[in-house]
Amino acid sequence: MLLHKMPKPLRALGELGLIEQIRRDFSAGSKAITLGIGDDCAILRPPAGCEVLVTTDFTLEGRHFRRDLHPPEAVGHRCLARGLSDVAAMGATPLAAFLSLALPGSMLAESAGRAWIERFFSGFRALADMHRVPLAGGDTSESPGGKNGVVLADIVLIGTAPKGEALRRSGGGVGDALYVTGELGGAAAELSAMLRRQRRILHVPTTEGHPHLFPEPRLDVGESLLRRELANACIDLSDGLSTDLAHLCRASGVCAEIEQTSLPIHPLALKLGPKAALQAALHGGEDYELLFAAPASILMPTSLAGVSITRIGSLKKRRSGGPLMTMLAPDGSHPELVAGGWEHFSGPAKRRRKRAR
Ligand SMILES: [Mg+2]
Repeated sequence: MLLHKMPKPLRALGELGLIEQIRRDFSAGSKAITLGIGDDCAILRPPAGCEVLVTTDFTLEGRHFRRDLHPPEAVGHRCLARGLSDVAAMGATPLAAFLSLALPGSMLAESAGRAWIERFFSGFRALADMHRVPLAGGDTSESPGGKNGVVLADIVLIGTAPKGEALRRSGGGVGDALYVTGELGGAAAELSAMLRRQRRILHVPTTEGHPHLFPEPRLDVGESLLRRELANACIDLSDGLSTDLAHLCRASGVCAEIEQTSLPIHPLALKLGPKAALQAALHGGEDYELLFAAPASILMPTSLAGVSITRIGSLKKRRSGGPLMTMLAPDGSHPELVAGGWEHFSGPAKRRRKRAR
């Protein structure tokens, strides 16, 4: 190994040096940024006639990724993708991102730690460049716990949408058709394959075909739904179809029925066998596809911005005591669909058999 080619540890670079490097790497100009990294606050200039939307998401080592399993580029990509997907779900356009990052002492003291963080930013920047999202600020700190500390990243995304037009979860109505973008269950299937192998993926030559490592936030689809007035309500699938559909139903005051045979299941999930594939599609989280409702009278395109759109069910009138969600099974029965996606801080909801009422 050519030691002289290894970068200096981050500790030698210092916090100001790291911020300066980030500022240089993300210096591409944006008309929306009056003042970016380097002052006490950033100054943003939203387009006239638009409202500002804000979302924030944690990416925590041990909860959302493992340093011994995930390539650093994927961690950076997923950190930004989580925020961008929320912006997409509102039909909004990203304006700027802010990143707060805490790093363990061990990473600051070693050359390998600096290499990890550079690869993290390389994955982050590739996705930011693809969607022309400037990084306009953030914070850095050493995480507590000394050498046993973990990487903690918090992403803030600022988006804009024409005043009063952002898509919400609450706009769904009785009789609306339900649609999803892309395919479901791929992220859960790729993650379960990674966990089975228990081996770190050192390098991923392409981001395509890796729904867990490199999910694609559906920004173009979200903007298209808003601009063409194609959706009444929308949510992104971060916690799994069954859990996120329950959120949309509760917010809209309706019930939903999913048609099992209509679900677009990702090829990676299909490899698991029919039963596990269905479980992954219904309950596997982090697909970051969009789930939206639209009046049944709208002739929905089969694809938007190059992404397939599939009708998977409909919204129904809520009956007191009745299930929030049902599934039309291939045998014609209508079993209750119980929310079984990931609920933060409580583990997989399906283990608790909590009824989604
Ligand atoms: Mg969301």
